[in-house]
Amino acid sequence: MKQVNDVVVIGAGPVGLAAAAHLLAQGLKPLVLEKGVSVGSAMLEWGHVRVFTPWSYVIDEAVAAILEKNGWNRPDNDYLPIGREIVEQYLVPAAHTPELASAITYNAEVIAVSKENHSKHTSADRQDARYTVHYKDSSGSTHIVYADAVIDVSGTWATPNPIGLDGLPVPGETENQDAIAYGLPDTLNADRQHYEGKKTLVIGAGHSAMNIALNLLKLQARNAETKIVWGLRNNDIEKLLGGGINDKVPARRELGLAAKQAIDTGALELLAQFKVERIVKNDNGLEVQIVNEGQRSTIYVDRIIVATGFRPNLQMLREVRLDIDHVAEAPSNLAPLIDPNLHFCGSVRAHGVEELSHFDEHFFIAGMKSYGRAPTFLMLTGYEQVRSIAAELAGEHDAARHTAIKFPGKTLNKSACCG
Ligand SMILES: Cc1cc2nc3c(=O)[nH]c(=O)nc-3n(C[C@H](O)[C@H](O)[C@H](O)COP(=O)(O)OP(=O)(O)OC[C@H]3O[C@@H](n4cnc5c(N)ncnc54)[C@H](O)[C@@H]3O)c2cc1C
Repeated sequence: MKQVNDVVVIGAGPVGLAAAAHLLAQGLKPLVLEKGVSVGSAMLEWGHVRVFTPWSYVIDEAVAAILEKNGWNRPDNDYLPIGREIVEQYLVPAAHTPELASAITYNAEVIAVSKENHSKHTSADRQDARYTVHYKDSSGSTHIVYADAVIDVSGTWATPNPIGLDGLPVPGETENQDAIAYGLPDTLNADRQHYEGKKTLVIGAGHSAMNIALNLLKLQARNAETKIVWGLRNNDIEKLLGGGINDKVPARRELGLAAKQAIDTGALELLAQFKVERIVKNDNGLEVQIVNEGQRSTIYVDRIIVATGFRPNLQMLREVRLDIDHVAEAPSNLAPLIDPNLHFCGSVRAHGVEELSHFDEHFFIAGMKSYGRAPTFLMLTGYEQVRSIAAELAGEHDAARHTAIKFPGKTLNKSACCG
């Protein structure tokens, strides 16, 4: 097996930083390329959202070891931080330690990965060829760095699923991006001016969509002109709300109850078994042509929020020989372990290099991106992935294959996470 020294890590999210820390602990040389100006750039975009696992599930032990050497005090294990607190109290301090600071390059957006002098179909001496990682800096100039191994931990946040039920944008979606938000906009504070006193269509059938709808209801309490239409692809509202009402997690139970009450009183208009066919902009806002319970009609809204999940960007890996499951878009050996029909985040077993390998040796997708289109990822699982990968790259093959996750405190139940 080829000796590894230089490892490029794509993305400085929580799992990217953990990867760098584990590589350093193994005596390897990580170079973390981060497209944003800060660590946790994706997390900052949902920085107003409180996570569902406490600090003890958020901190990687290799990162903590570096931080503690530099005088850091661990936050309260049981506290549920918001995304911004994770970045400010954990990721940024870690990125400022001498050990990690010199390993991270910001404003470096990876646009492609390949092998030196080897396009995808070139086989001769392929495993000996170094990786070439092409990235763009903030001025738009392209650079190439060379590496013995690459760990892609670039997440999925930048590639949300579009509105169409066929997995593609509906006509008018791409053209009207200025009135459409994806993910979890901060409707109560930073993005409030777009939603207060306006009519918003929320699309999605998970807890994220329910959270968005409930935050818009808080705006409605301040300004009665704020109107909310919630469109679900399936008719499984009872399951979602019922899960909430019967939920053992108090915060989730409250969400379910509040949503049900808002629907019953008409404060929130619910369209179940709903799909969008076309979006047209007119002088007053958006004209959304829909089918609801089999009936075609048009609704008029100012904005749309799409909360229908995320998918990995595999385009930049086009020249790498990947072993990817064609449905889940996760590494083939990992896909059956994370199937959302069978698993929730707390039931996915520990895994590492065995499940994350591809046809090109020493290339790995880890973190949120490794789960492809499945929504069941947990940071703790990602930390074990990159511990295993770092051990493998350092030649510690047994340690790499002995994977385990110790859930701190109480184990997660199904309703505590996912979606
Ligand atoms: C609202 C929300 C709540 C969540 N709550 C929890 C929770 O309670 N517990 C839990 O365990 N998990 C939770 N998760 C899931 C998951 O753990 C987080 O999304 C976590 O941030 C994933 O970490 P990551 O490092 O894999 O990816 P990310 O945090 O997405 O980081 C990826 C990084 O890569 C950078 N990047 C992207 N593309 C490129 C590129 N081409 N070149 C260079 N850099 C790039 C991004 O800027 C970003 O900094 C939550 C997710 C969301 C969205």
